Amino acid sequence: MDRLKDTIVSKGKVVSESVLKVDSFLNHQIDCDLVDEAGEHFFSYFKDRSVDRIMTVESSGIAVATACARYFRKPVVFAKKQKPGTMTGDALTTQVHSFTKNTDYTLTLSKEFIQKGENILIMDDFLARGNAASGLADLVETAGAAVAGVGIVIEKGFQPGASILESRGYDVYSLAVIESLENNRVLFK
Ligand code: 5GP
Repeated sequence: MDRLKDTIVSKGKVVSESVLKVDSFLNHQIDCDLVDEAGEHFFSYFKDRSVDRIMTVESSGIAVATACARYFRKPVVFAKKQKPGTMTGDALTTQVHSFTKNTDYTLTLSKEFIQKGENILIMDDFLARGNAASGLADLVETAGAAVAGVGIVIEKGFQPGASILESRGYDVYSLAVIESLENNRVLFK
């Protein structure tokens, strides 16, 4: 997606050789036109699949998942990183290691929002080592549902996330794949 790549180059900040900051348009302040276009691209790619819900993890995946879900006319469900006191029914949980915070956290999803036999499209802002998306896939499969595909806004192709997810049999579609962040420069694949 050319507009996304242009925005990454003009507004993204290379924090290190493995981390890109996109706070000004994707995961702190949100460029709604850009995110809507991203949602449309995901819809074009996945529209022939059966999709019952779009699933992401709070908080950075929610905007793009919502943009895409409007095209599918299906709900978005996001796994929570802390179990709220109001979540009283049965819940599914799984442990995930955070790439950016280097700590473990528990993903929690209320069982009522994912049903056996459903097809779930997983979506996130970044793909690095694949822990967040794998955790979401674990929740989907534990619920007896199936992963319809994985949509990623920015994949860091020099990290193993995509191959880990593909080895589980999932189709991973990324709008921008970064080959390198070396020398303070974004190089796309
Ligand atoms: P993974 O679980 O694939 O290792 O990492 C993906 C998660 O970590 C995403 O949900 C994203 O929020 C965060 N993340 C991974 N790499 C980056 C990065 O380079 N920049 C930012 N801003 N977040 C990242």
